[in-house]
Amino acid sequence: MEQDYCIRGVALNNQVRFFIANTKNIVEEAMKRYNLTPLSAAALGRTLTAASMMGMNLKGDDTLTITFKGDGPLGNIVARSNSLGEVKGYCDNPEVDLPVKENGKIDVSGGIGFGTLYIAKDMGLKDPYVGTVPIVSGEIGEDLTEYYYSSEQTLSAVGLGVLVDVDYTIIAAGGFIIQLMPEAGNETGMLLEKRIGLISSISSYFIDNTPEDLVKLFFGEDYKILDNKEINFKCHCNKDNFAVALLTLGKDELEKLAQDKEIEVVCQFCNEKYIFDKDEIKHLIANN
Ligand SMILES: [Zn+2]
Repeated sequence: MEQDYCIRGVALNNQVRFFIANTKNIVEEAMKRYNLTPLSAAALGRTLTAASMMGMNLKGDDTLTITFKGDGPLGNIVARSNSLGEVKGYCDNPEVDLPVKENGKIDVSGGIGFGTLYIAKDMGLKDPYVGTVPIVSGEIGEDLTEYYYSSEQTLSAVGLGVLVDVDYTIIAAGGFIIQLMPEAGNETGMLLEKRIGLISSISSYFIDNTPEDLVKLFFGEDYKILDNKEINFKCHCNKDNFAVALLTLGKDELEKLAQDKEIEVVCQFCNEKYIFDKDEIKHLIANN
């Protein structure tokens, strides 16, 4: 299967900056890990796609976390990316599904509901920088557009799509973020609006097309790709980290827990399960 990747660049006489990614494998990996429904796959998949693109601006150990805290049945939707093109995430209630909307589209806004969108950038300082905006649509792309406008005073267009087959496999997934530089003229905005309007469905666009095809469709020949990065669903959790976390419960509590059964811990960010049997717990208590 083709590797997911994201391209970043500038276009239209440097008046525009763009990020475009195909993310089919990332969404498929999330689907497999969480047994997603079409609704949760669309919601989490779009958020993972956005986080992978926004992660293109990170450096070193920086991370970026998108959190949709809505009152809909899906609960919180969270995606975190880093500067290496790695992204991970979860949805509180991945088993939730809703009937499709009248137009035949997945009801992502119904699943997310109203609430707050948080974007946190952790750059190793004492506190991460956190931008918040109210969730305006719950369709994710429009909410990120609103975030860029009110938090970063940037005019942008964000398109995100996940296409799920009737058998719950992912047919295609991907997205774009296009931002107008402050010095961009009105005509550039209008031209872009027209070009973006050519795409009726971003999810189906990526069935047969690549991010480079989309760049050409939007900008003709007037663009420059500055970066091209592989992106992957990847979590760095491991059993040792969870052993350390278990120890914070205190040895008495651990002994109690381990008395009659093994302990299972689950990584929130990737759903990987780690089992500690009685002997391992004893060992942990004795050696710490
Ligand atoms: Zn993990």
